[in-house]
Amino acid sequence: MTADLSPQRRPDDIDAALRPKGLDEFIGQAALRDNLGIFIAAARSRGEAMDHVLLHGPPGLGKTTLAQIVARELGVGFRATSGPVIAKAGDLAAILTNLEPHDVLFIDEIHRLAPAVEEILYPAMEDRVLDIMIGEGPSARSVRIDLPAFTLVGATTRAGLLTTPLRDRFGIPLRLNFYTVDELEQVVTRAARLLDLPLTPDGAREIAARARGTPRIAGRLLRRVRDFAGGKPVDAKLADASLSRLEVDRLGLDAMDRRYLMMIADIYRGGPVGIETLAAGLSEARDTLEDVIEPFLIQQGLIARTARGRMLNGPAWKHLGLVAPAEQTI
Ligand code: ADP
Repeated sequence: MTADLSPQRRPDDIDAALRPKGLDEFIGQAALRDNLGIFIAAARSRGEAMDHVLLHGPPGLGKTTLAQIVARELGVGFRATSGPVIAKAGDLAAILTNLEPHDVLFIDEIHRLAPAVEEILYPAMEDRVLDIMIGEGPSARSVRIDLPAFTLVGATTRAGLLTTPLRDRFGIPLRLNFYTVDELEQVVTRAARLLDLPLTPDGAREIAARARGTPRIAGRLLRRVRDFAGGKPVDAKLADASLSRLEVDRLGLDAMDRRYLMMIADIYRGGPVGIETLAAGLSEARDTLEDVIEPFLIQQGLIARTARGRMLNGPAWKHLGLVAPAEQTI
């Protein structure tokens, strides 16, 4: 059985109920949390809008959650949108002119803003003004509108995807890292409590260890295991049996991760192989491989991104139960 356990967001998500509401409930990312706490307190005490924040890191690590927490802790309104949804400059202008003073505007996938939209964001972020063109042809003229002070929280899977002028306008860039098993154990235990699900400590550990360093996946695995449990308390044995049926392996890799690794092993004898070739071979978008699949495999030391392409590392061969070609072992 292959369940879709990808960390990407989908409309049927019931993640919302499990979202931590305040910084003190937010597990892990200690340094980031401490810094953010200081910036929030400083902005509050000055009575100003907080500086713009850029959150970057793989999907499911808590970027949206943090943006909501920032608004809540600042005691201001929260508006959310996403890069691909804002089709025209006028759409963004409408959002910006409707903000209340000090509001948090969250733009997910901010790297996917259209260039014309991005351009009106620059003066809005820097000088809190909106420059819009009225009319066409010789009678066209530019009108400047003052905006309320606001905090833009942008989220992206990779900071490198942003254009330099946009990236430079964020005073507070923050990077989210994969969570440790200990941290995910806390995430799972908290979620089980909220879901009223009896879960033993070793059951929580088993799920945490297989959640790919990602709270969203931890939440999904917990809910799937709950389905298999049928009301029984979830211990390590039950969690292991359920996750094995879902084809989530010991390292937390799912069927797609293994297909990716097998393709490099089997067809390209461990690589190097170019990302486009892999994307075509796996019928997956290059972005999905780069943003969703690869970061965790790299963090686990299973693959390396080299100038000549992707290569399998020693532990990947071992994990797949294969022997690396002699010249290929790293
Ligand atoms: P992103 O925006 O980075 O894709 P989200 O903020 O939507 O990720 O988080 C995904 C899910 O993981 C949410 O259901 C949220 O409740 C949970 N989550 C994320 N970070 C944490 C955390 N630090 N502690 C507890 N739960 C978390």
